[in-house]
Amino acid sequence: MATYFISDLHLQADRPAMTSGLLHWLDQLQDADQLYILGDFFEVWVGDDYSDSMVQSIEAALKALSQRDCDIFIMHGNRDFLIGDALCQRCGAHLLDEYSTLTLGKTTALLLHGDSLCTADQGYMNMRQLFRNPAWQASILAKSLDERIAFSRSIRSESQQSMGEKSMEIMDVTPAEVDKAMDEAGVSLMIHGHTHRPATHQWHDDNGEQRQRIVLGDWSEQQGWYIRWQEGSLPQLIQFDLEA
Ligand code: MN
Repeated sequence: MATYFISDLHLQADRPAMTSGLLHWLDQLQDADQLYILGDFFEVWVGDDYSDSMVQSIEAALKALSQRDCDIFIMHGNRDFLIGDALCQRCGAHLLDEYSTLTLGKTTALLLHGDSLCTADQGYMNMRQLFRNPAWQASILAKSLDERIAFSRSIRSESQQSMGEKSMEIMDVTPAEVDKAMDEAGVSLMIHGHTHRPATHQWHDDNGEQRQRIVLGDWSEQQGWYIRWQEGSLPQLIQFDLEA
């Protein structure tokens, strides 16, 4: 049995090939006893009272996986931070705090979406503080579904505009922030997504101990990324072709 990680699918109704690719992948995932979804599963999430046929098909597929004795965990990303317990319940999943740890055998990994590590982007860090504020989230959720959909469209087009103006460095993690988070968690392994720069990074900390940071990739309609981690071996970052 193995633990799987995915993130940054940015699922949306107008990318149906990705949804069907995901459903196929979930369906043939036979050796998974844990699945971690590390944020930005949905391109946008306006509240658990929203649903459509795409959402329903994903809920059903995750629920079916959970009934095959796979524990499913969902972590917020910077787009789907309004996911709540109701959706998780429909998926047979558990909502997971950011900066959670997972121990397999002798190794403990720190799990996070990754946007909190991109501290060079001060504008985004300010936005993040707002988006993750429970009082602000409650005020958004108190609005009608139509108002929330309109609001999510407006922040999406704003963020796409500002992304275009930002340099590549400021949209990546700050190395000192990575080490700080690993020091605080007391781990030598970190797994995250968000940056859309899939890679396995290795380096040594100040004491000469080896550290590893594995970054998940974002999915397209043709290809996806996952990490497979089996007790006793190192986690493997894998890219694969989606099948309908
Ligand atoms: Mn993200």
